[in-house]
Amino acid sequence: MVGGGQGAYIGNIHRIAARQDGAWQLVAGAFDVDPARGHAFAAREGLDPARSYDNYKAMIEGELSREDRIDAVAICTPNFTHFAISKAFLEAGFDVICEKPLTATLEDAVALEKLVRDSGRFMGVTYTYSGYPMVHEARHMVATGQLGEIRTVQVEYPLEWMATAIEAEGNAQAAWRTDPKKNGRGGSIGDIGTHAYHLAGFVSGLKLESLTADLATFVQGRALDDNAHVMLRYQGGARGLLWSSQVALGSSNGVRLRVFGDKASLSWFQEQPNELVHARLGGRTETIKRGADDLSEGAKARTRTPPGHPEGYLEAFSNLYAGFAEAIYAKREKREPSAIGRDIPTAYDGLKGVAFVDAVVDSASASNPSWLKPIVV
Ligand code: NAD
Repeated sequence: MVGGGQGAYIGNIHRIAARQDGAWQLVAGAFDVDPARGHAFAAREGLDPARSYDNYKAMIEGELSREDRIDAVAICTPNFTHFAISKAFLEAGFDVICEKPLTATLEDAVALEKLVRDSGRFMGVTYTYSGYPMVHEARHMVATGQLGEIRTVQVEYPLEWMATAIEAEGNAQAAWRTDPKKNGRGGSIGDIGTHAYHLAGFVSGLKLESLTADLATFVQGRALDDNAHVMLRYQGGARGLLWSSQVALGSSNGVRLRVFGDKASLSWFQEQPNELVHARLGGRTETIKRGADDLSEGAKARTRTPPGHPEGYLEAFSNLYAGFAEAIYAKREKREPSAIGRDIPTAYDGLKGVAFVDAVVDSASASNPSWLKPIVV
């Protein structure tokens, strides 16, 4: 692992998630931008001190010199570092799991995605919400025509944690997220809007035609947007509306997706992630529960416990790790991955996310509201 040391947020989620199914073991790392803190963290994790490195370059050199070298690296650092670290590991021949957004600039995302293709390495990108079984069930229901022709997609990711200027009060996570050089051009839209955009496309199967965006910064002095509204026109005529907000009081990771077709609609809400609400034309509504016998292969492959026992965020993240492991084994063994290793987020999804943010910021910066097409959809 690179990053994710003491006091960091997502690194610990990666470690919990990776360990859950026994497919991954944490054996080496450069855990902190401060080497001493990184080593102290590695010692607490019980790592071999020889495999706790000062920085990612030393880690690559050290691991390449070992017979029992790492299989893959998880990159859990702020956005602006993803490109250089991923590139170095890919070029050294390692598979990579990288946090979203893939990179801080579109130019870097394009180059990185090309490098993944040219190198033949695997690169997974942790779009968390595509790890949920009921999100896979929703995708399956759309793909098998159970909603009919898709007309509209409503997706939102509201948060309240940056509703005040916490970046000025020593909050490490908020500090780099509000610095355009470290975060990238999109504030809330890059941080959480990318999750919403991925989720909407993943479930609906729709590809974007164009978008028009309105970005706002409500907290005084903040350099990036903390609220975004984006109207989406999908290829084929469907419409979408995406809202991301870091200033939505009362909301805590309330990711919500609703997809409306001409036969039925679906609704999924991350605070009740074990349920999918399916409403058919004419008023019949059913709640589909995780673990039901007749769910799709993709949903079943991501389910660990019987219905009624709650599964959630950590299990969804574990599903990504289980999927990445299966995809890597399948690639090595030159076979098709089983269900858990299919429909997983990869470098191309990461590139699409960065292209989306870039188009959103360009659209919102234009003097007249404009409809723009991201460079990849
Ligand atoms: P954080 O500030 O809590 O942690 C960053 C960590 O990276 C720290 O330990 C820091 O010391 C380390 N670091 C920074 N530069 C480094 C370098 N060059 N080498 C080694 N370590 C370095 O950040 P966070 O909130 O955990 O976010 C990290 C990444 O995860 C971001 O890209 C963010 O967008 C993403 N994230 C994703 C999700 C998700 O749901 N998938 C959720 C939160 C964050």
